[in-house]
Amino acid sequence: MNQWMNMADGALMHTYNRFPLVLTKGEGVYLYDDEGKKYLDFGAGIAVFGLGYGNKKFNQAVKDQVDQIVHTSNLFYTIPLAKAASKLVKASGMDEVFFTNSGTEAIEGAVKLARKYAWQKHPGTKSEIIAMQHSFHGRSMGALSVTGNAHYQEAFKPLVGGVKFAEFNNLESVLSQMTDATCAVLLEPVQGEGGIFPAKKEFLEGIRKACDERDIVLIFDEIQCGMGRTGSMYAYEQYGVKPDILATAKALGNGLPVGAFAAVKKVGDAFEPGDHGTTYGGNPLACAAVDAVLTIFEEDRIVEHVQEVAPYMIEKLDALAAASDKIVERRGLGLMQGLELAVPVGPVVKEAMNRGLITMSAGGNVLRLVPPLVIEKEHVDEMIAILTQILG
Ligand SMILES: *Cc1c(COP(=O)(O)O)cnc(C)c1O
Repeated sequence: MNQWMNMADGALMHTYNRFPLVLTKGEGVYLYDDEGKKYLDFGAGIAVFGLGYGNKKFNQAVKDQVDQIVHTSNLFYTIPLAKAASKLVKASGMDEVFFTNSGTEAIEGAVKLARKYAWQKHPGTKSEIIAMQHSFHGRSMGALSVTGNAHYQEAFKPLVGGVKFAEFNNLESVLSQMTDATCAVLLEPVQGEGGIFPAKKEFLEGIRKACDERDIVLIFDEIQCGMGRTGSMYAYEQYGVKPDILATAKALGNGLPVGAFAAVKKVGDAFEPGDHGTTYGGNPLACAAVDAVLTIFEEDRIVEHVQEVAPYMIEKLDALAAASDKIVERRGLGLMQGLELAVPVGPVVKEAMNRGLITMSAGGNVLRLVPPLVIEKEHVDEMIAILTQILG
């Protein structure tokens, strides 16, 4: 184990303090390290591995595509691209989509599209973006500029201009910052990295109404909370508030690096040839993964499964929280759950790992639980038993 850790640390830039585990294999909802130790995975590679490890249909679709063709560039059509795009349009409820290689790039594209729409319709007057405090949208200069976390931003200024931050779940804070110059409002319906905060319905409804009145583009970042995680394909469906642009990634490729931003026609049509591009984005391998994921979601009724297992997990977490003075509160939607702790979260994550449970932290001292979407009640029981040992 140390041999691989040393080799990696000797060659990688030090941007992560990795856990001292060398993971070699995944099976279902379990991970294995190079010494054969087994871990129940409630992290899913940061809410990515929705279908679990070793899904046969998914693996076969990806292997088949590797043997067909892996890359073509966007100068050509491919069959996986056509299939993935039409399936994602249907799954997202949007009208058109652009594939990227990551969530960050989906945000970059979404913000560019909003700016282009406003530039075309209201020349030279509408360019400001209102984003939320404690949000997370990525690390590139554009995505970082709309990420409401001063610590992430500080060393990299000057950032992209024209960005204001409002308080999440405080409608007045958003409305009071809207002006004739506002181009877009960007938010996560359930804040992830910020500490697992679901939006209030009235908050989203109020923003939607104000955006409609002022022709402001509403962008939802569902990179973490989308793809069935909260118990609907996209979280916005549960709120009954539809965005104009939707950013998605993480679970979209079940581990293959792919993201997308999708838009309603009125906004999406603002992009013309030459406005945006990518060499890899939407390549046949990534799109074969997306096609397989969306097919499996339908065939295996993944969203319905989340609706079944999530209430059980919530019930068990609530019971644990009620019995423990180390837990301040449980928050979340569906299988995107957080426990705000009264004790430091870092040692809890470490201790859980020692006991064979992978969890993650999120902002504000929160223990984040985002398991593969295919977990069963018995896995919830296993997780609760380990957390009870630590927090009970
Ligand atoms: C992870 C994440 C991103 C960034 O996605 P990457 O694939 O890491 O670039 C953006 N927004 C949210 C809400 C995320 O959770």
